[in-house]
Amino acid sequence: MAQRPVILIVGGGYVGLYTALRLQKKLSRGRAEIIVVDPQPHMTYQPFLPEAAAGSVEPRHVVVPLRRTLDRCRVVTGAVTGLSHADRTATVAPVEGESFDLHYDVLVMAAGSIARTLPIPGLPEHGIGFKNVGEAIYLRNHVLARLDAAASTDDPEVRRRALTFTFVGGGYAGIEAFAELEDMARYAIEHYYPRLSPADMRWVLVEATGRILPEVDLDMAAWTVEQLTARGMELKLNTRLESISDECLVSTGDGDSFASDTLVWTAGTKPNPLLSATDLPLDGRGRVECEATLQVKGTPDAWAAGDLAAVPDLTSDDPDATTAPNAQHAVRQAKRLADNILAILDGREPTPYRHAYAGSVASLGLHKGVAQVYGVKLKGWPAWMMHRTYHVSRVPTLNRKVRVIADWTLASVFRREVISLGQLQDPRREFVAAANTGRTGHLPPPQPADHEQSRTPGAQAG
Ligand SMILES: Cc1cc2nc3c(=O)[nH]c(=O)nc-3n(C[C@H](O)[C@H](O)[C@H](O)COP(=O)(O)OP(=O)(O)OC[C@H]3O[C@@H](n4cnc5c(N)ncnc54)[C@H](O)[C@@H]3O)c2cc1C
Repeated sequence: MAQRPVILIVGGGYVGLYTALRLQKKLSRGRAEIIVVDPQPHMTYQPFLPEAAAGSVEPRHVVVPLRRTLDRCRVVTGAVTGLSHADRTATVAPVEGESFDLHYDVLVMAAGSIARTLPIPGLPEHGIGFKNVGEAIYLRNHVLARLDAAASTDDPEVRRRALTFTFVGGGYAGIEAFAELEDMARYAIEHYYPRLSPADMRWVLVEATGRILPEVDLDMAAWTVEQLTARGMELKLNTRLESISDECLVSTGDGDSFASDTLVWTAGTKPNPLLSATDLPLDGRGRVECEATLQVKGTPDAWAAGDLAAVPDLTSDDPDATTAPNAQHAVRQAKRLADNILAILDGREPTPYRHAYAGSVASLGLHKGVAQVYGVKLKGWPAWMMHRTYHVSRVPTLNRKVRVIADWTLASVFRREVISLGQLQDPRREFVAAANTGRTGHLPPPQPADHEQSRTPGAQAG
């Protein structure tokens, strides 16, 4: 290996950021060069996305800027589009300009996962995912803009369609987004929309299996269903989304059909498809095959962890079991992975990764939650408090912890912000209209926020 090896980290999410942080802390400057490549200039703390969408936390505070945090690494903003580990070369497409090759000595593959979708008619045109901060901002503006649309029309069909919100997938990401956004919309209607009533809304969650929240025991999942149902929300279990038409007519497997301007897809993830453009060994599910030490199987100088890695679960009785794709493993694997790279550089043996899943905490709106940690089951306010305490202790950097706590404190004193910044969805519209007026002499009528984005997904949020 080179005197000053280049360590390339593909992805600056949970695994990428935590690995880089630990390496930059423990390696002296001359010892190695660390390069982190990610299309985004920030890491996203995904467990806070539902709260960001609901307005309890400022969206900027759920992301961690890579350049500021990784001040002793080289950060490249771009996507790795292919990789030959045999040649120790990755191809990078920067935000702008020609692709280029990056040569390295040690690889850390940490490019995470993407939404796992199905070939459902209308889904690509009308659906939106819930994995990044842009989607969270978009959905917040979109839901509030739908309340504005419903409150400003006398057409019952337009109103019903605007106030019907459909989610697909009942894992923790889906349930949290579903419950948090309903809670925000209910609050907004009760306080600021005298022409609307919470009973005018229809919130529908479609789940293909017979239960939600597979991360907790069945009794806790059943309790969560009861709580959400008591809020007037509908959970269609053992039901599939069949299609969504151009007129936003959603059809589900139970024969139901209803108009809905909102379709959020949270039905699971799959490993980043970038892996198929590499020479790393993949398992049947498209994940990188790893040893328990997080080394890529049969591939020297290559490591992987997180959502895209098949890591043996040494705490399971099943010899084929692998660790689940969640933040709990991602953070711990990153620490082990960094320490194992340091061990190899020092000529020591790497240590296998071992962690028994501790449990899960989920927020269901302000002061509501469900948690099951180390066998202890909590419901309602205590679970919600545990959710907040746990995640604020986990969000990287003191700066973000303080900002998130400040957001919560301000929201409790001044009430939460429920204003739609729909212009963010299309900031140039007004200027383009004004510029065109100069040409035609006619000023087009002003469009309300989110006018053209009356259906998801619309334009990308800023
Ligand atoms: C809404 C939501 C809520 C969640 N809540 C919880 C929770 O409460 N508890 C829990 O344990 N888990 C939770 N998770 C799951 C958890 O966030 C993931 O398991 C974790 O982020 C996985 O870490 P990772 O590093 O593998 O991937 P990520 O954190 O997703 O990082 C992958 C990184 O790779 C980058 N990337 C993608 N393509 C490329 C490319 N071609 N080149 C370079 N970089 C690339 C991405 O931009 C990203 O920064 C939640 C997930 C979501 C979506």
